[in-house]
Amino acid sequence: MSIIEDMKSVAEVIQKAGNLGLYTKMLELQIKASELVQENHKLREEKVALQETLRLQGELKLRRNAYWKESGEGPFCVPCWQKDTKAREMVECDEGDFRCAVCGFVYQTEACKQKEEDLFRRLNDR
Ligand SMILES: [Zn+2]
Repeated sequence: MSIIEDMKSVAEVIQKAGNLGLYTKMLELQIKASELVQENHKLREEKVALQETLRLQGELKLRRNAYWKESGEGPFCVPCWQKDTKAREMVECDEGDFRCAVCGFVYQTEACKQKEEDLFRRLNDR
């Protein structure tokens, strides 16, 4: 039985005993207890989120301007992680060219950069 249900049971006994002052006080305590239960629930959720952030922080490695998991999963957006510690996996929009769907940050693999530089050089050589 939860603390709120216990308090309701006590309030019912007090109500049956006819002590209006004590009954009113018990209802006020019930409201305060309910607020504390809600706050406790919220704090537990925040704790779980922080634990997840800490776990990810240990797992993500910055490599060539993007975050990667040791498993090779990635790339994850650097600006999004720095802004709100959200590990947002970037979407490959072209071969070797990744983009964050939230902030628009672009990450290019070395091979992709090299391909673009080669193309640019060939265009300039004409
Ligand atoms: Zn982003």
